[in-house]
Amino acid sequence: MAAPSAIMPSDALVFFGASGDLAYEQIFPSLLGLVRDEGLNIPIIGVARSGWELDQLKQRARDSLAHHGPADPPAQDKLLSLLGYIDGDYADPSTFAKLNDALGEAKRPLHYLAVPPSLFGTVAAALAKSGAARDARLVIEKPFGHDRASAKLLNGMLRKNFPEENIFRIDHFMGKEPVQNLLYTRFANPMFEPIWNRDHVRSIQITLAEDFGVRDRGRFYDATGANRDVLQNHLLQIVAHLAMDPPTGEEFEAMRDQRASLLKAARPIVPEDVVRGQYIGYRNVAGVRPNSTVETYIAVRLFIESWRWEGVPIYIRAGKSLPVTTTEVSVEFRRPPRETFGELVPGGSAHMRFRLSPDMAIGVGLRVKQPGERMVGNDMELMLTAQPATFRPPYQRLLGDALQGNGHLFGREDIIDAQWRIVQHILDDATPLYSYHPGSWGPDEATQLIGGDGPWRDPQVTRTDARMASE
Ligand code: NDP
Repeated sequence: MAAPSAIMPSDALVFFGASGDLAYEQIFPSLLGLVRDEGLNIPIIGVARSGWELDQLKQRARDSLAHHGPADPPAQDKLLSLLGYIDGDYADPSTFAKLNDALGEAKRPLHYLAVPPSLFGTVAAALAKSGAARDARLVIEKPFGHDRASAKLLNGMLRKNFPEENIFRIDHFMGKEPVQNLLYTRFANPMFEPIWNRDHVRSIQITLAEDFGVRDRGRFYDATGANRDVLQNHLLQIVAHLAMDPPTGEEFEAMRDQRASLLKAARPIVPEDVVRGQYIGYRNVAGVRPNSTVETYIAVRLFIESWRWEGVPIYIRAGKSLPVTTTEVSVEFRRPPRETFGELVPGGSAHMRFRLSPDMAIGVGLRVKQPGERMVGNDMELMLTAQPATFRPPYQRLLGDALQGNGHLFGREDIIDAQWRIVQHILDDATPLYSYHPGSWGPDEATQLIGGDGPWRDPQVTRTDARMASE
């Protein structure tokens, strides 16, 4: 998808939160990738309040790069030569005055807010007041709001100073190669389109499983939960890719228009269509409240109210401390209308499976006849492709796109609002909480939720694959 040709690339990159965890884990490695692979050659200014000098930022960058990938001395030297640093608090206007000076001749800077969400509005307003927001792009980290009302409020704050086309709301799942491949497979192969609807699809399943708990992120997770962490954003974006209509133009808004239209057609999920779970032992994690009712597992049933999808249930589940680490989608096709061979063909026989992590795979499930006299078969899966998912790190792709002004992989105001609208009735304690054993597939109630549309298709992953996922 192309950005409109009049759009100019950014001529400076500012990242707020330069001393933070995200900068260390994702931003420095992505910047190195952009310098190495895409010739990024603009001033890059880190901002933080750590009392650092530029040398300390450079050391932090070196440490991050040493930790995250093979050494590439020329690219690293080039990146370090582009770095600048501003120290200061975001509540202090002098921080932004210094930033303006440092931006010098830059006319179209990109400001990346890798800071706690409570600071998004503050930084955006301070940028505007200082003059550094003029013709600038703004990249906003997740989470975008805590519910529908707070997301609207945040949008309002940002839109006071930045036009919608200059706001890039990150959902890093959108930068993942296998998620892009889902869309590509659908729209590069017209044979799928005639069967991609209620006439042929019985149900859809999406599973995002992690075989580890909340690790050392107890405080963060206990204020978030599985719904806000992955369902409301990543998994609904996967639904959009899976179920949207083909875009009708070449520019990136055409893609976002279709995603928005699909999400707006979703029926808000009701409490009866939800199972929340918490793994046994979660409340002992540091930072978690001893009486926490935050879910570490969620399963939901979702419906899209459109001619294409009317009546097709979409089952989505996500959880921590499950048996494997993987994200998989399965489109389950209808059974034959009658039993031609007197054999009851199982419900899950005809399907299309997309593995989105840790590796990428696409498989088509078919019923294949057993050799012999009898007309009976086995379920087989034809593997169309299986490959590593490590083409280009999502943050590198997204940061590169934002610098070019290409927003097709980013959230738009109406898309974010549609996502919150879908989950607004099932946030927090709106539904009961069930416990489950670590290493299981979650509470038994989730089996009842899927009922006759099941069973859940439990993805299989080897331990080696799982290691790749966490890297
Ligand atoms: P951290 O808490 O590690 O870092 C935030 C940064 O903001 C630090 O550099 C901190 O500086 C700085 N900061 C905080 N308050 C101020 C202030 N008043 N003035 C100046 N600097 C300030 O957060 P993360 O890096 O983990 O996350 C950043 C954003 O990215 C968040 O919105 C988060 O939700 C999102 N995110 C993070 C992920 C991750 O893996 N970490 C994953 C997905 C999203 P100091 O250290 O000096 O206080």
